[in-house]
Amino acid sequence: MGEDSGLHDVTAPAAAVSWPDGHRAAATLGFDMDGEDVAITVDPESRHRLSAMSHQAYGALTGVPRVLELLRRHDVRATFFCPGYTAERYPDVLRRVRDDGHEIAHHGFMHEAMAGMTREQETAVLDRGLEALDRVVGLRPVGYRAPMWETTYATAELLLDRGFLYDSSLMDSDVPYELAERPGEGARSIVEIPVSWALDDWEQFAFVPELFGPGVIEDPAKSLAMWTAELTEAHRHGSCFTLTVHPFLSGRLGRLRALETLIETMQSMSDLWLAPAGELARHVRSLGLTPRVFPRPEIES
Ligand code: ZN
Repeated sequence: MGEDSGLHDVTAPAAAVSWPDGHRAAATLGFDMDGEDVAITVDPESRHRLSAMSHQAYGALTGVPRVLELLRRHDVRATFFCPGYTAERYPDVLRRVRDDGHEIAHHGFMHEAMAGMTREQETAVLDRGLEALDRVVGLRPVGYRAPMWETTYATAELLLDRGFLYDSSLMDSDVPYELAERPGEGARSIVEIPVSWALDDWEQFAFVPELFGPGVIEDPAKSLAMWTAELTEAHRHGSCFTLTVHPFLSGRLGRLRALETLIETMQSMSDLWLAPAGELARHVRSLGLTPRVFPRPEIES
């Protein structure tokens, strides 16, 4: 941190952004393809629990095909954030995602939260995830979403070194912005597509005994009501509605029907731009926004 940065030298709020082609607001659907990897990272012994593993496998085996059918029927393209381990375990599933024209983005290798990692450890995870996506679907992603949305102050720089255009893991705004990799002159920036715990199905549906915390299983009507309220206001305010759902959770029949209703509401908003996160990021990059800085908070020693 530079000498000119004091305790309260926090960046300004993100400015409103304009959307292309007369659109008033934007929305993007992100399907995080967490599989067995997220469970094994939480508890390595869980890989011996066939039932717990099968709960996670529901995503690739049943949820993703159903999600793809839904998106095809509504002519919607989305972003699939895929851990490298899931990609390698279910290569044909990820190839179907690619072949349906969706964006595939990076989501770690074993769904590792970056918090507490050294720069070298974080680098190794990023590169291992990139290698897996290259091997399985032959692509170099432009987007990254940190598992558990846990990034570090090194993440932006490491992503930029690897040619990424955008990250989607931070929560200080509801409009995309340019994030400087560090304070000071000459810093590069990465587009940030911000997320929110309130717009994530994990908090609604994740429940595996002795694995994912206390767990809850909510009524899909509840999440639909919550998400519709946020969508309506995002549309009114001209911001960006970024929804995160997991095929192993939202691929279940009743939940998928609720998601379909949400998509129908989106499509009834004629001036809402619904696009993969990568397309939103390219638009934001074209605006030439001034990058914002987010210095690490200092504490008195
Ligand atoms: Zn995840």
